[in-house]
Parts: sequence; structure tokens; C-alpha cells
Amino acid sequence: MPTPPTSERHEGRLADVAGLPVRRMLPRRTRRTIGAWCFLDHFGPVPAAGPPMQIGPHPHTGLQTVTWLLAGEVLHTDSLGSEQLIRPGELNLMTAGNGVAHAEEARSPSRSEKHGAQLWVAQPDATRHDSPAFEHHSELPDVDLGHLSAMVLVGEMGGAVSPARSDSRLIGAALDWRDDGSAVLPLEPSFEYGLIVFDGTVFDGTVSVEPEPLRPGTLIYLGRGRDKLELSAARSTRALLIGGEPFAEPLLMSWNFVARTRDEIDQARLDWMSGSDRFGPVASSLPRIPAPSS
Ligand code: MN
Repeated sequence: MPTPPTSERHEGRLADVAGLPVRRMLPRRTRRTIGAWCFLDHFGPVPAAGPPMQIGPHPHTGLQTVTWLLAGEVLHTDSLGSEQLIRPGELNLMTAGNGVAHAEEARSPSRSEKHGAQLWVAQPDATRHDSPAFEHHSELPDVDLGHLSAMVLVGEMGGAVSPARSDSRLIGAALDWRDDGSAVLPLEPSFEYGLIVFDGTVFDGTVSVEPEPLRPGTLIYLGRGRDKLELSAARSTRALLIGGEPFAEPLLMSWNFVARTRDEIDQARLDWMSGSDRFGPVASSLPRIPAPSS
């Protein structure tokens, strides 16, 4: 008899990013990556009067940052000279490669609610030493799955292909229930998947596999070998599905760096602290964030 696909629950950890409360869903101690996704913070919802989002210039290496908002507006500036306001329903994708620096600031901190996700994708060895790049996508394709609509941020689902760059076989899809009910998501059996809920409650439609409701703060890891996933929820529920081909390369993550060895991390930290050309200047009035001591 075939073994049923994996279904593991991982509780997110409460953390703080420059005063903004976040639920850190990845990495978890027993679940470091899902496909090449190696970091996932779900922040907010924080009311307009809550703490501002002001993250001063800081560096990255070996990863892509993916920003997805449900509420609020964030201004991204980076060492490539990009200056991009991002709104809900849009995608910011920054590829660090050998090195990049950026700052993120809520555009109107006193007036807007803040809710969204910040994710990282580990770059494979083939591209992680390349030049940095930045993309903004204000138009993303979506798939009509009946009661829910899935917007494809990265990768492909049901024939809808995101224009965003991906360096490995990957999927990221924002799920939005337009009505109460269940929908069947087409999956790629060679991918592993994970799901988080932004707001509301999601139930696995195949009750025998995962009878418990999934709510914000919990990541469900779905493993590989599924060709579909049936989910049900009430209208206005929103969730995020991530997945990809299991990332086979060893990863070393430290602060804002993704690398392979301790020497690479130490060099990146040194280059940032010495103001090396590897990470250029960022046009931001916020103070530069120093690397924590190793
Ligand atoms: Mn960053």
C-alpha cells in the first residue's frame, strides 16, 4: 500500500523585526527549507497606530527576497538604485547574488495597517555568485479554482505562469477565498509544499489526512507525492502556498546572509562592516544596520 503523504505541523516563533512583531514560520529547527524557500516571516496585521516598519540599509548574499503585502505600502530602496513602492497584490523580488543592500520603510507609518509576508529563496550554487538584480511585478497571473482564486507569485500553477525570475523549480501562490467552500489545487508531485494562513481558518478537504483546522501562526508541511490538495475555508480567508523541488545543496544561514561555509559568512560580515564596494550605498534616511558580532 502506498504511504500517505506527509503532513506535519510546525508552530511559528514570535519574533521582532525592527519593532514589528512577526511570526517566523521558516526556518524551524526540524524544517529548514521547503523547496528553495528558506525563510518566511508573517508580519501583522498591525493596526495603523502600531509600530512603524522602518528597516534601515542592510546587506544580503546568496538569496532572493520576496515581499508580499496584504495591507499597507512599503518603499523599497536598494544599492542598485531601485526605488519602488509596493502595494498589496504586487511582488517585489530582489536577487542578492554576490551582494546587495536595501532598506524597507512603510510609506505612511502613522496611517496604514501593516500585514504581509517576507520570504527568502536560497539561490543555487549556479547563480549565487552572480550580480544582484531587482524586479517589481504589479501584474501577476491568477488561476480560478472555483471558490478560491490563486495568484501565482513565482512559478506556475494550473497554466498560469508568473513573470518573476526563479533560479530553481519553485512555486509561491497567494490563495484568496471569494466564497465559502472547498477548492482543489493542482500540485506537482515532485515538489514538497507548505501552507500558512494569513487570516481565517483553513480545513484540509481530505479530512482523513489532516482533520485539524489550520490558523495563522502554524505552518503545515505537506511533503512530496501529492498531485492535488483540497482546501476549504470561509469567504475572505487568505493563505500562502509555497513549494518546490527539495533543495539539495547544504545551506549556512547567518543574519542576512545565505552561504555554504563559515568563511563565506565571515567575509560577507567583514565586507558589510568595512563599507566595501561589494554592497553599495542605499538612498535611505534610516541608519545602516550593523552586523551582529559572530
Ligand atoms: Mn532584507
